[in-house]
Amino acid sequence: MKLQRFRILAEIAIWCGCATSGFSQATPGADDVAYTTTKMTALRDQFTQAASRAGAPCRIAAPKLAVADVPSFGSYDPDTNTLTVSAWTLLKDEERNLFLRGAGPSATEDQARADFEMGVHHWVVVHELGHWWQACRGVTESKDHYGVEYGADRIAAAWWQEHDPSVIARQRAVFASILERWPNPVPQGQEVEAYFNDNYEKLGPTRAYIWFQARMCLAAFDEKPTPAFAQVLAQTKP
Ligand SMILES: [Zn+2]
Repeated sequence: MKLQRFRILAEIAIWCGCATSGFSQATPGADDVAYTTTKMTALRDQFTQAASRAGAPCRIAAPKLAVADVPSFGSYDPDTNTLTVSAWTLLKDEERNLFLRGAGPSATEDQARADFEMGVHHWVVVHELGHWWQACRGVTESKDHYGVEYGADRIAAAWWQEHDPSVIARQRAVFASILERWPNPVPQGQEVEAYFNDNYEKLGPTRAYIWFQARMCLAAFDEKPTPAFAQVLAQTKP
């Protein structure tokens, strides 16, 4: 199965803004696509250069970037080596409303947009860069869907732990809130990982999928001792 099938599907509400947030980020200018491209290029270059310094050589180039309104707000396609990410002004009304609702009843658009940028332009993008690194290491097909997704979350967690732990703190609150409020979708007596793998296709577009991602992310945040970014990259193997 191709890695793009592993992309986070319709997870926007989770990754990006279910919880109230005090984050405030610079408001971009009129050219939102150019703004997004510039920001994502910088993050992509920072990540790929750090990976190059830390890990074994990658057999593929740094991913090309595209800014488009994709269903999952972010995806990595190993066939074209392209990482696609959305931008605030490209969102459909219903997508933007997810953030507006998530930011709370009295939230401004700037607050909703800040949630979007934290969730998508930080967490989701580095998670997708994690899938790029997996492609570098030959992890292109696997039946261990849980392992692949958890691996991308570990990479993102290690990255932000080293570069901006406030991203972890913010996303931890979002994911903890999900596990607290949402029902456990795993039938009694079944293993979480096995159930996820066996039902992966079915779960993809559902809310339950988000519960699994939240669980994986919290596990990645709680890993002790906290692994270094270079260590997590080196542990990425088919
Ligand atoms: Zn993923």
